[in-house]
Amino acid sequence: MMQTNASRRDLARGLAVLGFGLTAGAGLAAAPAAQAQASGAAAAAVKAAYDKYKGLQEGKNADYIPALAKVPSNYFGIALATPQGALATAGDIEPTFSIQSISKVFTLALVFQESGEDLIENSIGVDATGQVFNSIVAVEQYRGKEMNPLVNPGAIATTGMVKGTPDEVWKKILALHSDFAGRQLSVDEEVYKSEADTNQRNRAIGALMWAYERFKSDPAVATDIYTRQCAIAVNAKDLGNMAATLANGGKNPITKKQVIDPKHVSRLLAVMATAGLYDDSGKWLFHTGLPAKSGVGGGLIAVSPGKFGVGTFAPPLDAAGNSVRGQKAIIDISNALGGNPYEAKPT
Ligand code: GLN
Repeated sequence: MMQTNASRRDLARGLAVLGFGLTAGAGLAAAPAAQAQASGAAAAAVKAAYDKYKGLQEGKNADYIPALAKVPSNYFGIALATPQGALATAGDIEPTFSIQSISKVFTLALVFQESGEDLIENSIGVDATGQVFNSIVAVEQYRGKEMNPLVNPGAIATTGMVKGTPDEVWKKILALHSDFAGRQLSVDEEVYKSEADTNQRNRAIGALMWAYERFKSDPAVATDIYTRQCAIAVNAKDLGNMAATLANGGKNPITKKQVIDPKHVSRLLAVMATAGLYDDSGKWLFHTGLPAKSGVGGGLIAVSPGKFGVGTFAPPLDAAGNSVRGQKAIIDISNALGGNPYEAKPT
């Protein structure tokens, strides 16, 4: 207990010291502006978690997308970013990997922004399915309602709700992901091709959601754009900054751009808390209280509103499809920094 309180004091001091503005870029640079290094409790917590879990061998790379099986399993990177734009990092924070399901959060943000939240709530719903992320049983059970935008059926439908021609839809999706990261992102074409060649199940899911009239655009196009958004290449630092943008009311801490209306952020975080780690979301929330989202590429983001965003990269996954080392590291880091938003001191 005493240690925790001391850590919280250090964090508060660290955040205050680091609360200066960082370079505000006019457009999106190829690389993010240099970010100040966080010191004190945040840096110590990130380093401690890295050291503790770097040798952990549990879990297995996803291999149903062949390109993901080839990613070195020992990669491990952690990047915590504050709303002021300071970074605390450890390990492999530069190598890029495919964002996969974490993209579902940002495409959902786009639909909230364009069409409002009611469209999602009334068409595909915001409850958890309690099933694996690519469950067809879950679609059948509720005729595509109660699907949640963070599992594949709801996510493919969400992509299908972005307005415009296929080209316009894709450009908007990539642009919003880039705005969240604070730099221009691009697609890992090898991963895209690998998934596009093997995504028959997602194509069936997209067609089924369309048959239940959960979205109106061409389901084959929606599934293809969804597959492409999952192949956007990011690194752990990008994920930290994307999470920090959510922790900062939708304003990117590096570029200072308000990338999404703040009123949508609490709704996004609620959906993440409900289904961000699929059918293990309850367990995750029980231990952290943090809205989070995982991807089968090994990425994981978690958000402590107003305090920090954290992104991790460690490819081996558990049975639910969530990064083993990423989860353990974020639990420790958040506990050390008092990140759980449900914690309040009694008066
Ligand atoms: N592209 C992956 C799929 O649709 C994303 C799944 C995930 O990251 N959980 O299967």
